[in-house]
Amino acid sequence: MSAVAYVNGRICSQQDAAISVFDHGFLYGEGVYEVIRTYGGELFLVGRHFRRLRASASMITLDVGMSDSALENIVRETIAAYRAGSGDPARAQDVLARILLTRGIGEMSYDPTKSPHPSLVVIVKPLVPPPAAAYERGVAVSLVSVIRNHPASVDPRIKSNNLLNNVLAMQEALRRGPYFEAILRNYRGELAECSQSNLFLVKDGTARTPALDAGLLAGITREFVEEVAVEAGVPTEDAVLRDDDLLGADEAFLTSTSKEIVPIVRVDDRVIGDGRPGPVTRVLLDAYRRKARTVAGRG
Ligand code: PMP
Repeated sequence: MSAVAYVNGRICSQQDAAISVFDHGFLYGEGVYEVIRTYGGELFLVGRHFRRLRASASMITLDVGMSDSALENIVRETIAAYRAGSGDPARAQDVLARILLTRGIGEMSYDPTKSPHPSLVVIVKPLVPPPAAAYERGVAVSLVSVIRNHPASVDPRIKSNNLLNNVLAMQEALRRGPYFEAILRNYRGELAECSQSNLFLVKDGTARTPALDAGLLAGITREFVEEVAVEAGVPTEDAVLRDDDLLGADEAFLTSTSKEIVPIVRVDDRVIGDGRPGPVTRVLLDAYRRKARTVAGRG
């Protein structure tokens, strides 16, 4: 992987990108992040990502400390540095920009006033989408026993750098087999989301996704899919969904910035629908990709 990173005011190569061991992001996992991608070299839905970054930061009493346009300039400069060093100044390959905002360095205390200078890191690296077979044939996922955080613990709406719960969920899936993703239930036993993506189920032509109050990340792809679905004539619904809804679905798919819409055709040893990506998923993926390319670069 060849990446470039902005670290607290300095753009450097992957080898030189370092942060202090005294940073609370490292010490306590005390920070938030966003992952933004480009289409045709243009930033996609950057305004929505910045809004969510501010919301996540405020939920841990952290201040972004700069305007959206200042932050966007840093992201753009880091992407430009990556492109200049990658031999791809023509922007043929799309990139991911991971923005990390942490409490920064201060006393070894949980008191936020003792660490008044947040750290800002932007990592830019090539976007590596799932293999074409994932879209053409669909993927298998595992429904794991690790539960999504209770909203009164680390609220899943916070896009937190502290990802241990998600890591544990994916580890459980990988112990069972070469699964693409892990689906987590919430503390009430309802379906919540996947370890790194949101979940949709299709039944009788309607695309349903767990409602935000199930306790999950308000995915920007999830939101965009719901908008695209309206235009594509596919009804959508935020709902309470359970294991039976998943196993009895006609189609299922997962969504995220870097993966777009990936069809799910098997959950552990149970086949979903007829075991192939379904027609609603295909319509939504095509419509998503078309619309993403038209709105990229428009904020
Ligand atoms: N849920 C979780 C837990 C995630 O980590 C992600 C991806 N970061 C998503 C959902 C999808 O979010 P988005 O569509 O904004 O990339």
